[in-house]
Amino acid sequence: MRPVQDFNTGFCVFNALKMTIETLKREILNCDRCGLAETRNHVIFGEGNPQAPIVIIGEAPGRDEDLQGRPFVGRSGQLLDKILHACGFNRHQHVFISNIIKCRPPGNRVPSAEEILVCKPYLLQQINLIDPKILILLGATALKSMIDQDQKITKVRGTWINCENRLAMPVYHPSALLRNPALKRDTWEDFKKIVHKYRQIVDHSHYSPYI
Ligand code: URA
Repeated sequence: MRPVQDFNTGFCVFNALKMTIETLKREILNCDRCGLAETRNHVIFGEGNPQAPIVIIGEAPGRDEDLQGRPFVGRSGQLLDKILHACGFNRHQHVFISNIIKCRPPGNRVPSAEEILVCKPYLLQQINLIDPKILILLGATALKSMIDQDQKITKVRGTWINCENRLAMPVYHPSALLRNPALKRDTWEDFKKIVHKYRQIVDHSHYSPYI
């Protein structure tokens, strides 16, 4: 950020430091903090309502996301959209969808500790700017990166935990549901809790087709 000259006082002032979701986006789209900058097609900033009451946090973009430049557009994303629809949520109004890291790891490997270390501050800035009431942590990488490495998704999914001084619910990642459809039953119970909480703290009259 460059200081700007205030011609009235002659002092340099730092009003250029004001971060908005758009300035953050510009910064993230130009990122070269790690080696993924060399292999990616797109940086996936995230998408949704920049003032959403819910921020959904996945692991990392996959092949489809890297090609299209949008989060959760492959098979996992289609399943996520179905779950959101069943809850009465959509990407434009209720949620902002992001990831722990913003670029695809080659071959969809799990992000390295180093990649998470350099990229997670972007996610924290997104969360601060969006200021959601609820965080949804999709899968083990989101859980471990946001809470701590020793957490087990099988143990804490479906429970409310504190994350960045906000309410967070860890749930199974949609890719786990695609691999093991038996997990869908538990996941539906978890999302019911999210809808109930949403009605309590965001919108009493929220409509959902099934809950
Ligand atoms: N899986 C993720 O964790 N994030 C995406 O954006 C797509 C698939």
